[in-house]
Amino acid sequence: MHSSFRHPSLPCTVLNCDLHCHSTCSDGLLPPAEVVRRAAANGVDLLALTDHDDLDGLDVAGSTASQVGVTLIAGVEISIEWETLQIHVLGLGFDPADQALNDGLAGIRAGRIERARKMAAELDRVGIGGSFEGAIRHAANPNLVSRAHFGRYLVEIGACKDLRSVFESYLIPGRPGYVDHRWATLADSVRWISDAGGVAAVAHPARYKLSRGDMRRFLGEFKELGGQAIEVMSGSHTPEHVELYGRLAREYGFFASRGSDFHGPGESYVDLGRLPPLPEGLRPVWQLF
Ligand code: AMP
Ligand code: MN
Ligand code: MN
Ligand code: MN
Repeated sequence: MHSSFRHPSLPCTVLNCDLHCHSTCSDGLLPPAEVVRRAAANGVDLLALTDHDDLDGLDVAGSTASQVGVTLIAGVEISIEWETLQIHVLGLGFDPADQALNDGLAGIRAGRIERARKMAAELDRVGIGGSFEGAIRHAANPNLVSRAHFGRYLVEIGACKDLRSVFESYLIPGRPGYVDHRWATLADSVRWISDAGGVAAVAHPARYKLSRGDMRRFLGEFKELGGQAIEVMSGSHTPEHVELYGRLAREYGFFASRGSDFHGPGESYVDLGRLPPLPEGLRPVWQLF
């Protein structure tokens, strides 16, 4: 889409790059144009809209970006499973018209509706009815129904006080409303992204329940498959996580990314473009665009 990004005067670490956020095309609360306007208002120079498993927002985001003076690169957050875990792989700077990538994402979306029906059946068993319809009502794009939409329904009916408590009591492994699901594989995601000319990056690595050893095995496999980057500065990382994943990025030779994972005002802890800059001594992933 926008393949060459060079700022004339600023070193990479001073640019305000936010390469992870969501719109109503997946489980964000703002339409794509609003996301881009908000990013511009917050001083973002380079933005990637990374909806879950869907590229529909990129056109509107691109035209809005050129009106408001933000550089937009194509983005997506692909749901995969690795061993028993659900993991998110970001694709950045790819060709959004790539057929294999679009076909792969369509396959993941088709599985989401099936999963949503099973999740609703599980919630029925603990006395929470109507969650399929309830979640769909919260999903502007019903093809992209996610646990976030179920979570908003659970808050709406008073089963939980906020999303954070939803994800402590429901919708996670071992709790009501969670179902195992077959997503894409790690190899699929990296191949789709790379073959479309993009960079694959591990999203919020600290969020996964992996031991140190399993994380190393995962990162090694990701690298072997052609993965090039990991999110170091993320809306879901503590300062300790930033330190740890900065170290691992250097050790594995990964580029480092920065992304708020903004889903909407009042729901996300970090607003667009408001994270601290990447720590010194890392290679920013935006050098590649
Ligand atoms: P799914 O892709 O359907 O499995 O849903 C995952 C989505 O649920 C994430 O992208 C978040 O939007 C949301 N989510 C998962 N865990 C949490 C959490 N602990 N707090 C808030 N939102 C969460
Ligand atoms: Mn989400
Ligand atoms: Mn994610
Ligand atoms: Mn995300």
